[in-house]
Amino acid sequence: MPAIKVNKIRQIKVDIVIFGAGVAGLWLLRRLLKQGYSVVLLEADSIGAGQTRYAQGIIHGGTKYALTGKVSDAAQTVAAMPERWRRCLDGEGELDLAQVKVLSDFQYLWSTTSLTSRMAGFFASKLMRSRTQLVSQQDYPALFQNPEFKGQVYQLDEPVLDVASLLYALAEPAREHILKIDAADVTFDCTDTALIKLKLESMGIELTTSKVVLMAGKGNQSLLALLDRDTPSMQLRPLHMVAVRGRALTSVYAHCLGASVNPRITISSHQDSQGQTVWYLGGQLAEEGVERDAASQIKAAQKELMSLFPWLDCSACEWMTLPVERAEVAQMQGHRPDTVYAQENHHVITAWPTKLALSPVLAEQIERLLQEDGLLGAGETDFVNELKDLPHPRYAVLPWQEEGRWSW
Ligand SMILES: Cc1cc2nc3c(=O)[nH]c(=O)nc-3n(C[C@H](O)[C@H](O)[C@H](O)COP(=O)(O)OP(=O)(O)OC[C@H]3O[C@@H](n4cnc5c(N)ncnc54)[C@H](O)[C@@H]3O)c2cc1C
Repeated sequence: MPAIKVNKIRQIKVDIVIFGAGVAGLWLLRRLLKQGYSVVLLEADSIGAGQTRYAQGIIHGGTKYALTGKVSDAAQTVAAMPERWRRCLDGEGELDLAQVKVLSDFQYLWSTTSLTSRMAGFFASKLMRSRTQLVSQQDYPALFQNPEFKGQVYQLDEPVLDVASLLYALAEPAREHILKIDAADVTFDCTDTALIKLKLESMGIELTTSKVVLMAGKGNQSLLALLDRDTPSMQLRPLHMVAVRGRALTSVYAHCLGASVNPRITISSHQDSQGQTVWYLGGQLAEEGVERDAASQIKAAQKELMSLFPWLDCSACEWMTLPVERAEVAQMQGHRPDTVYAQENHHVITAWPTKLALSPVLAEQIERLLQEDGLLGAGETDFVNELKDLPHPRYAVLPWQEEGRWSW
């Protein structure tokens, strides 16, 4: 009789299993470990592979909200983010992010002509007044130091971070807790009313956990389906970002105020794999660009830069476009949610941060859900030995560092 092959499945018991190693999942992982929970984070690709590697890295302080003239609760929450992140960047906050590279301490906001009436509303808001300063001409960033520039420049309290170093600072101290999985290999068993069993057959493990937290960005949808749940609903809002590199460019971090509530263009500056300056362009250009193919989107970006900076010669620049989708909880008419989302349903918490900058708020909200349920960290660490020989994911590469994408 042929021998029967028995694959031994190792049982590992943890308090919490998180799906998704984007900024939100990583922030939560670090917070929960600090509080003594036993946690495993499962990632189907690489660390930061989803929306996070496409982020401009701006720690928003509420400018976009205040441009509507209204200061809501959501605006107050966002307004607290720059200070909260700065404490972490100084090594004194809830997480130590002292190793993160700060690309700029501030964002600028510029208007092409005189102040519009909307700007008056913006500055009337007390919240914004304390965070916004008019910049005098001699202190303008190099890009605006041109006699042809006719607008006004404001400095906003919005630091800009290098996302690769942020991912490293968040993930590296907890690397042993982050496993690389095959998304198709996951099966859930929810028959026990108090626990969820999660089998990863090809890895030979079964995780038994009190809570599953879905923080897989747009991957939350298929995980919910796998768990046989049809709520919450998710929405995807597309963007068509553009990157440009060349000798003509100097680093700048700025929103241009146009006719709408959203910035006409938002420019952040990064480095390609050879250290050359890259401008990463978002705002209205990226929102409206979803209707355009890559060639037309690059033409639109060239036209916009020529109209904003007629003195800039981009003729020798190289270009790429970056179509990407933001994953969020569904809203009426597909509007942008104005804050984080986390909701629990039978031991499964589904969450989206809405903004990278709001990851600390989302983690806090999830911690509250756990505590309300009486789930407290017991400082259990033995399970970590069981994870050592399992695969751990790599770090994602930032899109403008992928040479093959510079095709225009
Ligand atoms: C172009 C762009 C620019 C942005 N700029 C900013 C900005 O400047 N400032 C700001 O505050 N916000 C910004 N945002 C928003 C911000 O990027 C997102 O809110 C944030 O990155 C979302 O993080 P996340 O961890 O929820 O999801 P993601 O980063 O999408 O991470 C989800 C992770 O889950 C993994 N995954 C998917 N399916 C599975 C599965 N089945 N099993 C396991 N893992 C899975 C993915 O591989 C991925 O690593 C920007 C967004 C975009 C698109």
